[in-house]
Amino acid sequence: MAPRDTFQRPLDNLRLSVTDRCNLRCSYCMPEESYTWLSRRDLLDFEEIERLVGVFTAVGVTRVRLTGGEPLLRRDVDRLVALLARNEALRDIAMTTNGLLLGECAGALARAGLHRVTISLDTLRRDRFRELTRRDDLARVLDGIEAARAAGFEGTKIDAVVIRGTNEDELADLLAYGREVGAEVRFIEYMDVGGATRWSASDVVPRAEILERIAAVYGAAEPLREESSAPADRYRLSDGTVFGVIASTTEPFCAACDRSRLTADGMWYLCLYAKLGIDLRGPLRTGESTEELLARIERTWSGRADRGAEERLARVLRAPLAERAELERDPHLEMHTRGG
Ligand code: SAM
Ligand code: SF4
Ligand code: SF4
Repeated sequence: MAPRDTFQRPLDNLRLSVTDRCNLRCSYCMPEESYTWLSRRDLLDFEEIERLVGVFTAVGVTRVRLTGGEPLLRRDVDRLVALLARNEALRDIAMTTNGLLLGECAGALARAGLHRVTISLDTLRRDRFRELTRRDDLARVLDGIEAARAAGFEGTKIDAVVIRGTNEDELADLLAYGREVGAEVRFIEYMDVGGATRWSASDVVPRAEILERIAAVYGAAEPLREESSAPADRYRLSDGTVFGVIASTTEPFCAACDRSRLTADGMWYLCLYAKLGIDLRGPLRTGESTEELLARIERTWSGRADRGAEERLARVLRAPLAERAELERDPHLEMHTRGG
């Protein structure tokens, strides 16, 4: 039985950030010229990750998502997928990727036992992609999405962060593209997370406006009634196309949040906005027994009171989670370190 936190939320979804490195520089995540990176010797190896995931599943976790940074930059990540796929308690093993390397890796990931992929794609226009990510690699992402389909992945999602003055005029095009490639598109509100140092409230396109913009092209979308802890609220257009909106900034969903995050160097974060993490690498490497690790995780989750996005909503003046100097001192605050 999974432990419950102070708001009775169970421990379930675990995001595993397998690297803090990335081959894009999205303006809403990595806008700076230089970064403080995690030390390589601190990175958990695959066997250490497998062991920790085994402890988490013994406590109640049933879903993991590999993320980063860019998870496909972690060498031989398909071997980690294969190790995790042996864990029978995991009913969902997913990955969030920018898709750049999927063309080369999709087949191996599918064979290793990955269940689903989510690919981040904010624009279909080459010039915009280049401006937004500082790399001229849109074609590789689109090839990656095709490769995921060819490898047999089902339930593929395309996640697009919507930013005012950047891509809010492309929502209908992204939906049409998703339909064409058989992927469900989810629109994500721009968040004031660590790393988003250029965030400002005026750049957020709220859910209501996202829906209005889609309705102006396709007609009003019908909300789907679903009971789930998943962050996206889903909608259906009259032609049957289903899409999601993740209103993390204007209408947060902390009340049902069963997610936590493990960084590549073994720090465990109970909330996307948490300033402090729990070191699991130390106890793991000093030989703590499985029972002790299990008790540590249960005890920590039982005391969880985080509801970061809801607390931020209550602020009159809202600003990014951390300033640049703070991020340089502690890279664990970065979205690209703790994993989106
Ligand atoms: N590199 C991979 C990717 O981009 O898919 C995985 C890691 S990335 C941190 C995970 C997700 O976080 C991406 O979908 C990205 O768009 C999202 N993300 C990053 N910064 C964000 C922000 N400031 N607001 C909303 N979503 C953000
Ligand atoms: Fe973009 Fe993902 Fe890399 Fe962040 S981690 S810069 S969202 S590709
Ligand atoms: Fe969960 Fe924290 Fe996000 Fe709220 S802000 S949904 S508690 S991770």
